Amino acid sequence: MAVEALFDISEPGQARAKEACKGRAVGIDLGTTNSLVAAVQAGQPVCLRGPEAGASVVPSVVHYAADGHVVVGQTARDDLAPRFAQDTIASVKRFMGRGPQDAEATRRLTPYQFAPAAGEPSLVRFVVAGGSRLVTPVEVSAEILRVLKARAEADLGGELDGVVITVPAYFDDGQRQATRDAGRLAGLDVLRLLNEPTAAALAYGLDKQAEGTFAVFDLGGGTFDVSILKLARGVFEVKATGGDSALGGDDFDRLIAGHLLQAMGLPDDGGGDRFLVRRVLDAARAAKEALTEAPDIAVVVERPGGGTWRGQLDRAQMEALVRPVLDRCVRPVRRALADAGVAAADLTGVILVGGATRMPLVREFVSTLFGREPLHDIDPDEVVALGAAIQADILAGGSGRDDVVLLDVVPLSLGLEMMGGVAEKLIHRNTTVPCGATQTFTTYADRQTGFDLHVVQGERELVADCRSLARFKLTGIPPMAAGMARLEVTFLVDADGLLRVSAREQTTGKETAIEVKPSYGLTDDEVERMLLDSFAHAEDDVKLRSLTEQRVEAERILAALRAAMVDAPELLADADRQAVAAAVRVLETARAGTDHLAIRAAIEGLDAASKDFATKRLDRALDVGLRGQGVRAVEARVDESATAKGTTAGVKRSHAGHEHG
Ligand code: ADP
Ligand code: MG
Repeated sequence: MAVEALFDISEPGQARAKEACKGRAVGIDLGTTNSLVAAVQAGQPVCLRGPEAGASVVPSVVHYAADGHVVVGQTARDDLAPRFAQDTIASVKRFMGRGPQDAEATRRLTPYQFAPAAGEPSLVRFVVAGGSRLVTPVEVSAEILRVLKARAEADLGGELDGVVITVPAYFDDGQRQATRDAGRLAGLDVLRLLNEPTAAALAYGLDKQAEGTFAVFDLGGGTFDVSILKLARGVFEVKATGGDSALGGDDFDRLIAGHLLQAMGLPDDGGGDRFLVRRVLDAARAAKEALTEAPDIAVVVERPGGGTWRGQLDRAQMEALVRPVLDRCVRPVRRALADAGVAAADLTGVILVGGATRMPLVREFVSTLFGREPLHDIDPDEVVALGAAIQADILAGGSGRDDVVLLDVVPLSLGLEMMGGVAEKLIHRNTTVPCGATQTFTTYADRQTGFDLHVVQGERELVADCRSLARFKLTGIPPMAAGMARLEVTFLVDADGLLRVSAREQTTGKETAIEVKPSYGLTDDEVERMLLDSFAHAEDDVKLRSLTEQRVEAERILAALRAAMVDAPELLADADRQAVAAAVRVLETARAGTDHLAIRAAIEGLDAASKDFATKRLDRALDVGLRGQGVRAVEARVDESATAKGTTAGVKRSHAGHEHG
């Protein structure tokens, strides 16, 4: 089963491409701030503008009116949000696949009302439509997708056969699953989720036949993502990703708004007047966007008590305001380059993505940071949707080319919990997807009849510092001596970045599998924090891990020795008895300490002292075997005398193998 799955993913898209007939397939950029839909027409990807040929961009804002109707897009953003703040959801992408705890930080910054966490504590629900309706982030996103679907069907003249939806490279399993669910809810057949930077690279790579190593610098409304991609003969590989989830054009707007409020003689929070703050933020955004073209502009804001405020803002002033925020892009860029093992000078080019990269200051900043002029031939608002359209067209078989393989990476390492709470990574961070890894584990205790499998995500060495993704059990294994069971665990990450874990006990053939859909996701901030933590604690972590491992090993050896002394005391020579007892005491003392090298030395000391005893036991076991009783009998005897905790499950690594799908 696991093996089939592994073969299945080794050719991404092919099976699904066959299912999807030649037809209408579109690419959707479901953005935090703006969303777009694009399709390949006459061999060229184009963004669809709807029958009125308006803007390609649909603001990702959904208004739920008290009378039940739903308004999506510009009207919701410009007219309804200021008046019905609670009923108009913007930036819903930040809540996708997240629970109330995860969303806590974001909640405080929003005017939304959240339903109390009843029944399903893992779900965020907004109270909308004047308090008459509860909606989840998946439902809100589905409303945006419905509008894009209708637009595409109107433009293309018929029902859609499939879509490719883009997601940030940082999205975890839960967030990806939520995005898929939103697609399904909107009545779309989601052929593939595609990482945004990969889509951008596809738009550039296939259009321009570019080859080499590229950095994708994506500065949107609320998020900053940087990715290092390798392009060669139509194959895209994401080498590394990084970013900051709380950095984007919106932050610029806030800084500019703060300046405007000050100029109006009002406090930073507008004196608590939410509607005023909203209006000033809108004015700030309009000013910022206008200053991309014009060197200076007039700003007009309606005052709370009536009357209007008029002011001026020039580009240099605006740039001075936003510069400190922009500077925060430096660190993630350096880290992504380091992760990918490339120097900025080795890059073939830098691709600009996201509306905020239109700003002259941002272009200049990127040029300086990378030491080269960035590529901007493709509209940075549209580039992701255009790339998604190309991918959709390939999957639907419209392109006539099925040789394009897209590779993305796992943003955080995936692993299993070992005895002692140590995390064993099966798939490392920044491994290209689709990918798979198989490792064999064994039982720690005698007579263990099950395994507790705990799937974790993160860079730290100890499980307590990683994020828990799922727990499952493999039970029904007949009791065996410690170390006899052979549990083969396979991790598979498919082309959409979803994780499947399967486990099979090889001597019995018992198997189980789960698909990881965490009940709530992980914020980008947390990804960032987890990475920073792992760098900060790297050295301590390794020490702590060695200590934990040596303690577990000491425990195992002491338990095995105690069992053997009960089982075959006559085999321990009187001459050795004292030395073994002394070595046991040394090991027990060392185990209570914190020096892993001392524990290691004590383990070796005990091994040496009990060597003769071990040899004699082995000889007897072989004798028993030769007399025809078989190995099973030996095991059974060991089992009966076991001192371990029976069915307490735990896993310990016995052999590590690594496979890439
Ligand atoms: P997202 O990926 O988050 O949906 P976008 O890529 O659509 O976001 O970028 C939205 C951001 O780009 C907003 O902050 C918007 O103000 C900014 N933006 C759009 N056009 C311009 C422009 N001409 N000049 C400066 N900023 C712009
Ligand atoms: Mg975007």
